[in-house]
Amino acid sequence: MNLFTIKNCVLMILLFFLSNTAIAQFSADMITTNGDITKTSKFYSEKPYYRMDMEEGGQQMFVVVNTETNNTRVFMPSQQMYMEMKSDDIQSTSNDVFQSLEEQKKKYLTQLATGEKIGAFCLTEAQAGSDSFHLKTKADLDGDEWVINGEKLWITNGGIAGILSLFARTEKGISAFIVETDTPGFKAGPAEKKMGIKGSTTNALSFENVRIPKENLLGVDGRGFLIAMKTLDAGRLGLGAACLGVAKELLELSTNYAKERKQFDHPISFFQAVQFMLAEIATMVFNMESIVYRTATDYDLKKDISTKSAMVKLYCSDALDEIADRAVQIHGGMGYSQELSIERFYRDSRINRIFEGTNEIQKGIIARDILKKGGKIF
Ligand SMILES: Cc1cc2nc3c(=O)[nH]c(=O)nc-3n(C[C@H](O)[C@H](O)[C@H](O)COP(=O)(O)OP(=O)(O)OC[C@H]3O[C@@H](n4cnc5c(N)ncnc54)[C@H](O)[C@@H]3O)c2cc1C
Repeated sequence: MNLFTIKNCVLMILLFFLSNTAIAQFSADMITTNGDITKTSKFYSEKPYYRMDMEEGGQQMFVVVNTETNNTRVFMPSQQMYMEMKSDDIQSTSNDVFQSLEEQKKKYLTQLATGEKIGAFCLTEAQAGSDSFHLKTKADLDGDEWVINGEKLWITNGGIAGILSLFARTEKGISAFIVETDTPGFKAGPAEKKMGIKGSTTNALSFENVRIPKENLLGVDGRGFLIAMKTLDAGRLGLGAACLGVAKELLELSTNYAKERKQFDHPISFFQAVQFMLAEIATMVFNMESIVYRTATDYDLKKDISTKSAMVKLYCSDALDEIADRAVQIHGGMGYSQELSIERFYRDSRINRIFEGTNEIQKGIIARDILKKGGKIF
């Protein structure tokens, strides 16, 4: 469900209101701006409110229009969020948004795709980790510039990035911005000393009166949290794929080691205890691969993957930790030694249960969806 779909829904509801004064309740299919068909839309009316319930890609959304104030609220229970907008805002900004998105893509995506500049995703703050909605970084509009003040924590690539996607609070809610790191007032702290993933730098960032052009707003003012959540949907799928790659490597390393290492005059792969560990790793790898590929297909088909990518993230990161633990066990003392890469995999895998939203947060997302759908998953 993207902004333009939402915009379309709101326009549809207004059109509907204008042409039907005595609305009861009925269902309809609508064509969204993506060309998708939105199913099971229902309209309710209780003056001055008109409400439309809809579902797209398994995601439920309620749009409520107050016809007296022209205010529109969009509730998305699966994202635990709601957005508020004025419908005339939406009409007037939509063309500008399309236009500026194209310009932003040309300017920034090319630099990121060629590797000329590194990007970083800046959402987390000291008091806004799992509860990222309560972020405090501010962006105030001053003439033709946004002035940004605040601090971000735990930002991957923060110290080496040239371009940031930054989430900050404006008068209208949480908004997304593109910030170039050579802008005065921006500072990256020293690299965090971490347990693992030492090839990746992580920094705290500070923004002190950082002035960026007005057109560096990403999407619509006040609707940035949806961008953050949709980015994380894809990020969690990517995280699952990365866990899968490591898991395959560990299966191969552990299998080869078990065939080479001899004890009691036999390769240790002769012993059932070791065979069972390999069998368990292989089964987890197969499960990981299945859910990653299935969800990636849905993503390519532009279906909503919020719940599935939460499951991918949860399962793959849990499974990888179990796999890394078994790999250390199969390697015995050598699994604990820095001479081999196994201990590094063991340390590196642990972060996957924490970043991109902790696994407890993923369980919450999945449970909410299951409860909403009465136990029917997809
Ligand atoms: C190496 C690394 C790289 C990172 N990279 C980035 C990045 O590039 N960009 C970015 O924006 N952020 C990044 N992060 C931040 C990361 O996403 C957060 O650390 C993570 O979301 C958890 O937030 P927190 O650390 O504040 O933990 P907290 O939110 O304080 O959580 C602590 C514990 O409480 C549990 N908990 C909290 N709330 C609930 C709840 N409602 N229900 C159940 N349990 C709950 C958590 O699951 C966890 O077990 C990175 C973090 C690390 C460590």
